[in-house]
Amino acid sequence: MAAKLRLYNTLTRSKDDFVPIDPENVRLYVCGPTVYDYAHIGNARPIIVFDLLFRLLRHVYGKQAVTYVRNITDVDDKINARAARDCPGMPHNEAIRVVTGKTEEQFHADIRALGVLMPEDVNEADQPPRFVEPRATEHIDEMRMIIERLIARGAAYVAEEHVLFSVSAMQNLSGVPKYGAFSKRSLDELLSGARVDVAPYKRDAMDFVLWKPSGPQDPAWASPAGIQTPGRPGWHIECSAMAWRHLVQAFETRLTCADPNAREIFDIHGGGIDLVFPHHENEIAQSCCAFETPRMANVWMHNGFLQVEGEKMSKSLGNFFTINELLQDWPGEVLRFNMLRTHYRQPIDWTVKGLEESEKTLDRWYELAGRGETAFVSDHIVDALSDDLNTPKMLAELHALDGQSAHEELGANLRALGFLLEGAEAWKARKQSALNVDAAQVQALIAARKEARASKNWPESDRIRDELAALNVVVKDNKDGTTTWEVAR
Ligand SMILES: [Zn+2]
Repeated sequence: MAAKLRLYNTLTRSKDDFVPIDPENVRLYVCGPTVYDYAHIGNARPIIVFDLLFRLLRHVYGKQAVTYVRNITDVDDKINARAARDCPGMPHNEAIRVVTGKTEEQFHADIRALGVLMPEDVNEADQPPRFVEPRATEHIDEMRMIIERLIARGAAYVAEEHVLFSVSAMQNLSGVPKYGAFSKRSLDELLSGARVDVAPYKRDAMDFVLWKPSGPQDPAWASPAGIQTPGRPGWHIECSAMAWRHLVQAFETRLTCADPNAREIFDIHGGGIDLVFPHHENEIAQSCCAFETPRMANVWMHNGFLQVEGEKMSKSLGNFFTINELLQDWPGEVLRFNMLRTHYRQPIDWTVKGLEESEKTLDRWYELAGRGETAFVSDHIVDALSDDLNTPKMLAELHALDGQSAHEELGANLRALGFLLEGAEAWKARKQSALNVDAAQVQALIAARKEARASKNWPESDRIRDELAALNVVVKDNKDGTTTWEVAR
């Protein structure tokens, strides 16, 4: 019998036993990407971490007893700017669809390579969907509904065709948390942080936008609250609306909570640690005030930051990597493996050395475990994951199975964890082809270089050296006159 599931909860700042509201329908929401550019490797972390949680929940509660919602933000000012830049001359709405459609497709291809379950992998034709990937633009009605409710309760107001959430009004409502309680910020701190974002239409610097008017270059929908000018939603309201639609309203008939105040609450909300404030604080403010609940979700989980070779990843430092770029050099499973070597709440240092070690281990396990069953067959593995997704411990348990020559068991667990997705032959062949494809070409270039050097044709010899370098080949001239080469990482 596997151990009880325990999860660290940002809400309580402690690791607690997980108690689902309805064990026959455990409900999980994770903030997904804003689709305007390639996702970077930091974006891959929550995708992989919560994919693992989803797999674990499906194992513990049953495949039809978990609903996972991971949204796609396809309305955002960054998208508008990108559409104007990339598609000049195209009607703006069309340009936005081009940008979001292309980026979404790329995102799906990238994360599929990381061994992440996709809706089409888990949803069955005759069952309600267990993995929903809603788009913000398809939930404008729900956003308007929540905004109207907030206005009706006095928690939001209209000013200069904007709708704003009133932080001070929330502090006076009963039955809802205090604003700032989730991120543990005092009103003083919040105020000093909010001063940078002063706008004339705000009653209070801390108030945040629920809805704003659209200019001619912006996507636009009919506005709520009798505002005549068409507008568009703020970012935070999108998640409140999608979570409500797919985790609350979708199950309205079966939600029979003893506590009537818990009807609009779901089980787990996840995302990156950078979303705690303001995004999640604001989601909580909106959902709790609109539905008069003490919580939006019972458990809040946040993954830590990602650094590259000990430094903050940034375009200016030249250490900024998209998932797509990394996939050109490494199999997706190596990226996934490397991500899970660090516990999800710790900051992760993303290094080439770590990737090389991950690849070496996977090479070995591909060799040993081949094809076979896909299932969490070892209590030790499930126990490690049940301890707040302790993936370093989980990997130690996998190594232990390797040490005991329990190769079938090793393989079954690895496949359940999203590894060994192709056959050992395919894995090896792909890696071989990466190394072998140019072997004949490399030999020919080395021979030509030798000839050029013998005839003292230095420009030609240099040109060939550069060509070899472009193939990622490192050439070594040995003292005995021979030349050896290898493919550099
Ligand atoms: Zn969100």
